[in-house]
Amino acid sequence: MDTAALTAWIREFARLIAQEKQRLTELDSAIGDGDHGVNMDRGLTAVVSALEAEPPDSPSALLKKVGMTLISKVGGASGPLYGTAFLRMAAAAGDSVELGKVLRAGLDGVTARGKAEPGDKTMVDALTPAVAVLEGGGSIEDAARAADEGRDATIPMVARKGRASYLGERSAGHLDPGATSAALLLRAAATTLG
Ligand code: ADP
Ligand code: MG
Ligand code: MG
Repeated sequence: MDTAALTAWIREFARLIAQEKQRLTELDSAIGDGDHGVNMDRGLTAVVSALEAEPPDSPSALLKKVGMTLISKVGGASGPLYGTAFLRMAAAAGDSVELGKVLRAGLDGVTARGKAEPGDKTMVDALTPAVAVLEGGGSIEDAARAADEGRDATIPMVARKGRASYLGERSAGHLDPGATSAALLLRAAATTLG
């Protein structure tokens, strides 16, 4: 996986986020403050512009630029978390990227920063099963499916991290917005890298 392939992945992620912006915001309106779609779309639009203005010349430079841009543009809880994920992915990437390895580093960054565990109703619930599939030698398509299942599994969960946790038991019965955007990251990978 080289710089061009990773660029295609990130551009597809940006496209899916723009397409699902309204839906992500609706999900966040139910259990948060209704800005997840807007936050992520603002960030990914800035990422695409930054990559076009100055195309990075290595996988790690690209992933670093994505992370820095998300931290500065997304805000909220998800900006620093996605940003940290991409910065950790940059640090784990060599000249050629092995997706399972870099996504593991990204997920470890999210949990180091946000302290969420599987079952807390966050993006971690979509990322964890996807990384497990890749580490077990599964395909990216299988990993994307695992992320979708992990996302859907957040519906009955009671949130223990982030704004949704303020609702306590009332957070149950809703999809987590961050798990939904994280599943799109894997869907974009399956489309472009699979
Ligand atoms: P905010 O809650 O600040 O408005 P967003 O709406 O952009 O930020 O993002 C909310 C999402 O962030 C949640 O749906 C959840 O998946 C994720 N999230 C929140 N806190 C954490 C955490 N500590 N660890 C992992 N993910 C988290
Ligand atoms: Mg929000
Ligand atoms: Mg917010």
